[in-house]
Amino acid sequence: MPEGAQTVYGRCRSCGELGPVLRMPEFNLNACPTCFLRLYERRLRRKLEEHRMLDGAKRVAVALSGGKDSAALLLALQRLGWVMGFEVVALHFHLGMGEHSRRNLDMVKDLTERCGLPLKVTHLSDLGIRVARVKGWSACAVCGAVKRSLFNREAREAGADVVATAHTLEDILLFSFKNILSRRYSFPRPTLPEQSGMLRKIKPLMFTPERLNAIYCRLRGIPYFEEKCPFWEPHPHRLKEVFDHLEEVIPSGKLQLLLSLQEAFPAGEDELRWEVMRACRMCGEPAGQELCALCRLREWFCSSKENGASG
Ligand SMILES: [Zn+2]
Ligand SMILES: [Zn+2]
Repeated sequence: MPEGAQTVYGRCRSCGELGPVLRMPEFNLNACPTCFLRLYERRLRRKLEEHRMLDGAKRVAVALSGGKDSAALLLALQRLGWVMGFEVVALHFHLGMGEHSRRNLDMVKDLTERCGLPLKVTHLSDLGIRVARVKGWSACAVCGAVKRSLFNREAREAGADVVATAHTLEDILLFSFKNILSRRYSFPRPTLPEQSGMLRKIKPLMFTPERLNAIYCRLRGIPYFEEKCPFWEPHPHRLKEVFDHLEEVIPSGKLQLLLSLQEAFPAGEDELRWEVMRACRMCGEPAGQELCALCRLREWFCSSKENGASG
């Protein structure tokens, strides 16, 4: 049994066999490992179909951070693609943060080799960009903006027509609650249509608690990266403890809360910004301003280097 999974001896609710079963209070269900894998993939397929995430799609891009969520997404989509008739391409953005990024790349290479998928790696250093504070942007803001721009660009170059992000149920709850606490009432949608040079963007795991992704990876025997980013800080993530507590008090509480928020709130800012995208003056990629985030960052890093060299 995989580490971290709550297991008991009992009867699998799906196949009826007696033996070690995984407890899934989220779905009021105990399942044996074989049935867990089948249920996980079947549920993902149902969400893909329910939200028309892959209608007409031929090739879906997944950006691998190396973590459990993107690893589970890659493998589950690859397996569903065999029956649903689409391909999966794996991307990785090498952030250039020393040993951490090197170990991360090794892990992602190992994962894609085991899946038998080619890996397209983009090095930030080749773009004249690095993950660091610049012009009032935090390192995490730089990293987020770079990944968002690169994901769309690299996916399109790899011939993908859809990008799939690995946001989990907890990520979406965290994002929405931070918004609510700032009196912004919006909710991210599972499927954003293609528009203004941005590929269709889908969130297949937004209804899946992240602990199930870890169990899926371990049961399928695929590796994932457990190291935290050197810039990671615990405080912004502490709101997740509130959701864990809710789940303890009310099994399935997280999922019910997510579904209620989805019903109650209109589409998020992210989606609204989508509609006012234009072409970047430098590179022609979709941009919210005159220059896209990548070109702005490249200019800033370039000028700070020049200033540094002259001073
Ligand atoms: Zn079973
Ligand atoms: Zn640009």
